[in-house]
Amino acid sequence: MYNVTLIPGDGVGPELTEATLTAIEATGVKINWETVKAGADIIEEYGTPLPQEVLDSVRKNKVALKGPLTTPIGTGFRSVNVALRRELDLYSCLRPAKTIKGVKTRFDNIDLVIVRENTEDLYAGIERQVDKDTAETIKRNTRGASERIAKFAFDYAVKEGRKKVTAVTKANICKFSDGLFLEASRTIAQNYPQIEYEERLVDNMCMQLVQKPELYDVLLLPNLYGDIVSDLAAGLVGGLGVAPGANFGDDIAVFEAVHGSAPKYKGLNKVNPTALILSAVLMFKHLGEQKASENLYNAVVKVIGEGKKVTYDLGGSASTMEMGQAIAEEVKKLTLAYN
Ligand code: NAD
Repeated sequence: MYNVTLIPGDGVGPELTEATLTAIEATGVKINWETVKAGADIIEEYGTPLPQEVLDSVRKNKVALKGPLTTPIGTGFRSVNVALRRELDLYSCLRPAKTIKGVKTRFDNIDLVIVRENTEDLYAGIERQVDKDTAETIKRNTRGASERIAKFAFDYAVKEGRKKVTAVTKANICKFSDGLFLEASRTIAQNYPQIEYEERLVDNMCMQLVQKPELYDVLLLPNLYGDIVSDLAAGLVGGLGVAPGANFGDDIAVFEAVHGSAPKYKGLNKVNPTALILSAVLMFKHLGEQKASENLYNAVVKVIGEGKKVTYDLGGSASTMEMGQAIAEEVKKLTLAYN
């Protein structure tokens, strides 16, 4: 029995969470969910979008599955997602982008992994209104945070049998901040002679990814470029509906989709649960539940491959829950066959 914190989130988060829990339950792995609320919907009740009990629960259980949380653009409270990552020091963000057979894409056989620094860069929160017509946001990188994310990327490459890590920056322009990130990446790369190391500028990287994505393997990026390039990579494999993610600290892991709360779809039971379900695949792997992880992944692939019970973004008309249930049915068959 595992104790796992569940943060259903806001917007489409609760409906995606419900469908995901149905698929997870079918694996037979026993999880004691501790459900805690965060996000825009609870500010009135709690006075904050990130109550202390959320942080306490994740710190205690060490593992969380999280739905998306809305961040209003411009004024208002700062991003709850960014606050959560910083409070829990979840410094590594892992976002695999892998082709799933049956999802219509421009390229076959894409298998990229984005490793995004999660705590600093332009997300450090150092910004101010200088005067009425001028505003500034400081881009802050430190050697310690840059080296630990580089180490995470190389360790991941070794563990997963990957061949190459590409550091992606704009060090020709941001000579100090991105220059430091690059220097840290080079220092760490020296400890991993078995992994090829190369560097790209982020603008060129974007062009190459939409032309020759097969040339790349693990991408190592500072926070903002990592955010942008992971949406690009999600687009290469079929969109945000199928893009999972995970945030790791030294001993805490929070699993969540790349996408946000898609407010215009809230309550319609329409969006794709795959991204959150694939995040649960990563969670099972982290917990050491290899078979459950494989069964859940293979069930997703089967349902998408058949194309009958898929949501609108994959060309179908199934609801969020119908797709979740179809995946759960496949998981049950695979689990029975295994037992
Ligand atoms: P979004 O990812 O919520 O949605 C953009 C579009 O992508 C949607 O309109 C929809 O067309 C598509 N999409 C997203 N998820 C989908 C799914 N599961 N299935 C099918 N299609 C899907 O991005 P946004 O509209 O820019 O952001 C909305 C809010 O979410 C903002 O407040 C933003 O700050 C927040 N956000 C949160 C997280 C997080 O919780 N980790 C991540 C990104 C954005």
